[in-house]
Amino acid sequence: MKYIDEFRDVELAKKVMARIKQISTRPARLMEFCGGHTVSIMRSGLRQLLPPGVEMLSGPGCPVCVTANADIDKAIALASLPDVIISTFGDMMKVPGSYSSLQQARAEEADIRIVYSTQDALQIAKSNPTKSVIFIGIGFETTAPTIAASILQAENEGIKNYFVLCLSKLCPPIMKALLDLGELKLDGIICPGHVSVIIGSRPYEFIPREYGVACVVSGFEPLDILLSVEMLVKQIETGKPKVEIAYRRGVNPQGNKTALVLMDTIFEVGSADWRGIGVVPASGLVIRKKFERFDAEKAFSITVQPAKEPKGCICGDILRGVKIPLDCKLFRNVCTPEHPVGPCMVSSEGSCAAYNQYGAE
Ligand code: SF4
Repeated sequence: MKYIDEFRDVELAKKVMARIKQISTRPARLMEFCGGHTVSIMRSGLRQLLPPGVEMLSGPGCPVCVTANADIDKAIALASLPDVIISTFGDMMKVPGSYSSLQQARAEEADIRIVYSTQDALQIAKSNPTKSVIFIGIGFETTAPTIAASILQAENEGIKNYFVLCLSKLCPPIMKALLDLGELKLDGIICPGHVSVIIGSRPYEFIPREYGVACVVSGFEPLDILLSVEMLVKQIETGKPKVEIAYRRGVNPQGNKTALVLMDTIFEVGSADWRGIGVVPASGLVIRKKFERFDAEKAFSITVQPAKEPKGCICGDILRGVKIPLDCKLFRNVCTPEHPVGPCMVSSEGSCAAYNQYGAE
């Protein structure tokens, strides 16, 4: 399949790997920001094949995993209101909140429906005019345009029973927050491909400029990632960090203008609560005042107990890149995909699920 097969070519991968080994003379600590990259790296065993000096750490780029327990608790509280239908992506169902999960709430008769897009959620709203339909809007800049489009469509079509619990998050500000925390001394970041299709590569330019950290935007196939590692190692070896794009077939420097305008029409930048990191100013999207009647947090009154983290779960440390799933005492014994303790074992992009599935020892 064009644009996929050639990025899985083993012979080409061996050549790139040989080049990386040739140019690598000093330690290079890299973070793959995105959960999709973590899964691809684990699935193809790339981590073990890289030269010993090239270290790869997973970052916080899994939308389900970084959703704070307090926000999951809000979704569950909304689900318990009368005449409310919750619509959500399937990954969210099994994520444990502080006291329950959406799956448990559904077992207790809450009306919670799995959708594949905001269009599905809008359709549920149209088909159930006497109910309030709330879409759980998690995700990064990748999904924010479709959430914005759904709000605009509801406005234009006069759909009055559609609401969004807006939990959208922004990637460059959380990269800045991680760098400011200073827990990790990173040399390079593999920047997220899908997010960058929307925002372009320019929003990362502060990273090499202010932090001296190399950045390459990568696609998701093994060769995409290897080429990105090669570009990062070259930047690190020459001491000239900058932002480069290895994912040229999807990303340009300026991003997708239509999607950015759409996002800006509906949302403004606000604070967001990140699991393991906390509330970070200007790292999320909130619905603008003009469209606030679609904002579930403003339209409904709910009370939630103070949030608490699952005992023994180190998802927060894993999302900050300071620990790996194998450091968790609960990994694979108490915490499994069937009985997840934390979100990193639930999500298809979660590190713990990837380590579990692809057999890292
Ligand atoms: Fe949390 Fe389970 Fe991962 Fe441990 S293995 S960090 S409990 S999700």
